Amino acid sequence: MAGFTHLFIPGPTNIPEQVRQAMNLPMEDMRAPDFPAFTLPLFNDIKRVFKNDTGRVFIYPSSGTGAWEAAMENLLSPGDHVLMSRFGQFSHLWVDMAERFGLVVDVVECEWGTGVPVEIYAEKLRADPQHRIKAVFATHNETATGVTSDIAGVRSALDAEKHPALLFVDGVSSIGSIDFRQEEWGIDCAVSGSQKGFMLPAGLGFLSVSTKALEASGRAKHHRCFFSFEDMIKANDGGYFPYTPATQLLRGLRVSLDLIAAEGLENIFARHHRMAEGVRKAVNAWELNLCAKAPKWHSDTVSAIVVPEGIDSAQIVRTAYSKYQTSLGVGLNKVAGKVFRIGHLGWLNEVMICGALAAAEMALIDCGVRIKPGSGVGAAVEHFRQTGVLPVAKA
Ligand code: PLP
Repeated sequence: MAGFTHLFIPGPTNIPEQVRQAMNLPMEDMRAPDFPAFTLPLFNDIKRVFKNDTGRVFIYPSSGTGAWEAAMENLLSPGDHVLMSRFGQFSHLWVDMAERFGLVVDVVECEWGTGVPVEIYAEKLRADPQHRIKAVFATHNETATGVTSDIAGVRSALDAEKHPALLFVDGVSSIGSIDFRQEEWGIDCAVSGSQKGFMLPAGLGFLSVSTKALEASGRAKHHRCFFSFEDMIKANDGGYFPYTPATQLLRGLRVSLDLIAAEGLENIFARHHRMAEGVRKAVNAWELNLCAKAPKWHSDTVSAIVVPEGIDSAQIVRTAYSKYQTSLGVGLNKVAGKVFRIGHLGWLNEVMICGALAAAEMALIDCGVRIKPGSGVGAAVEHFRQTGVLPVAKA
């Protein structure tokens, strides 16, 4: 087929040409004497994206799931009590991993389309004066339902009780795209991956930890090897890795961090909000609903759009792919067949969003959804025309 194939899944995201080119290089020696001159600034600069001033970031050759695992192995012990909530496929998978690791998980089941239940977390922390809960988990951005949660609120709930539990946050589909403040929100361990806001291929798992988490890792009793903080710190401090690193991805990461710094985090957040609002205007014009139950849950990185009764959302995604060369995200688990997703994160702009909306609109109509051709695209176009990007001082 002629022309580009368009990628609007919520990760992997589109890769800037400079990043792609930076990874197209001959293999290099990861034990070379000048390798640390490349890696040490990288370890330092990636901390800025997390807004982690005093801790450190581990870069693993894994996906985000590996970084989840690294967090559990290094910071917890079998039998530890932890507080989690489930409201989508990714918060579900995190719970599943915690259970498989032998943690005693208190899971708050929430309606899909809502997010971290801060009030219920507050009550559970209040009811735990003996501090049995060792960690509180929060999925910042539930990619399956397009829901963003209030992490500052979770911090406040912990602080209100002076509760010492560690705060674990999944920021796989939020960090580098929407507001995230590790230090300010007192996050002990933030998980991310390379293929979303970092605009790289999948293959790097990032784990950004606080000094409190580093101390806790000395006391935690889980077995660990590949993901061991201790081994990583020993090697990373000299600019090396305890195993063969994914050097090409690291070269790409250097350029993606430079692009993020050049645009400025606050400008990136503003751009994501503007793109997301364009999508939401279109959904509104189609007279459809988001899976997110209220505006406070709206995600600026992904929208999950509920299709009318009797329509299969998977058919819409298949039609967009086969007829219009456009990948949209399918519904996962409980919302399979009921929602389709538009990923609006990473390296994209207004015209790309209009393309995604046009493909979605054509596929919706092809699959029998009664909407006026051009209505959603038109609403987005008007939004983009009327709102300008205000430059914000670089973070
Ligand atoms: N957490 C969230 C919120 C995600 O969106 C994803 C993947 O999409 C993951 C975790 C798992 O990450 P990975 O697929 O990189 O292992």
